[in-house]
Amino acid sequence: MSQTSIGFIGLGTMGEPMATRLLASGHHLHVFDLNTAAVDRLVALGASVCTSALDVSNKAEIVFASLPTPNVVEKVALGPDGLIHGEKVKVFVDLSTTGPRMAKYISENLATADIIAIDSPVSGGAAGAAKGTLALMVAGPAQAVQLVQPMLQTLGKVISCGELAGLGQTMKLVNNLVSVTALAVSSEALVMGVKAGLDPQVMLEVFNAGSGRNSATVDKLPRAVLPRTFDFGFTTALSLKDTRLCLDEAEAMGVPMPVGSAVRQVLNMTNATFGPDADFTRIACLIEQWAGIEVPTRKNVND
Ligand code: NAD
Repeated sequence: MSQTSIGFIGLGTMGEPMATRLLASGHHLHVFDLNTAAVDRLVALGASVCTSALDVSNKAEIVFASLPTPNVVEKVALGPDGLIHGEKVKVFVDLSTTGPRMAKYISENLATADIIAIDSPVSGGAAGAAKGTLALMVAGPAQAVQLVQPMLQTLGKVISCGELAGLGQTMKLVNNLVSVTALAVSSEALVMGVKAGLDPQVMLEVFNAGSGRNSATVDKLPRAVLPRTFDFGFTTALSLKDTRLCLDEAEAMGVPMPVGSAVRQVLNMTNATFGPDADFTRIACLIEQWAGIEVPTRKNVND
């Protein structure tokens, strides 16, 4: 059993399975979420309920967060009821995707209260969170990273991105841009091939045996598009948030991203057509609508 008290704020799609793994590995957890149903599920597994982020940071030395947007993370970290005012917290580990500027801002502010911030955004989706196979892109002071490393290792593979606050976030943003760009262009290719008369399953077989292989052809298309379930587990709103954050950072740095800008427009249109809560694999439906065809249903060949 761990002697260090741990807190976890944000028990959503990603947070709940991550918090569950930390509990299962023997850590006691103090948890908080606005969604009481999610809190109740963790309490049933042995976690202690808290009434606010401040309450968590009065009880835990290491506080993890998995929250939807940079603004929510800012409020939870630095707001009037935020963990900056906590009596016990020493290290804040942000597993959310917030972008490097927010990570730096939070790190600088928390430092005034002697709290060390570590940015550790994750990749691998809800399935990876449940299985403990996430990629964790960690940035922060080496000693603090070493302290939380065993906990992070229960969540997946820890990859150090450096000591500078925000470097994990930069890595995450560019990773997700590559992922959604692959999804968008693979969807275009799939719809074109089907309209020409190719079987979608044959197309995936060729992509994955050839040079078109990518994370969409290997996983997203067979899992969520061909079976027409559109349930990969990542919303259009979150993908749009990540893409916007990436393009904003790139622009601020003077790095042109014309391909990324086109993908942002595709996401904007997916968002307008299917709504922010629609799975981002709905990008394929947008292309289908424009092309005037539907990719025929195939069962998940990876099953
Ligand atoms: P989610 O919306 O499912 O979960 C967010 C949770 O935060 C919800 O339970 C919500 O009730 C809670 N919350 C919101 N405001 C709060 C507040 N002020 N105080 C306490 N709790 C609050 O989001 P998610 O899909 O779990 O994503 C979490 C983070 O992880 C995001 O930053 C996202 O970009 C990133 N991420 C998501 C995925 C994915 O596949 N879903 C993959 C990698 C990274």
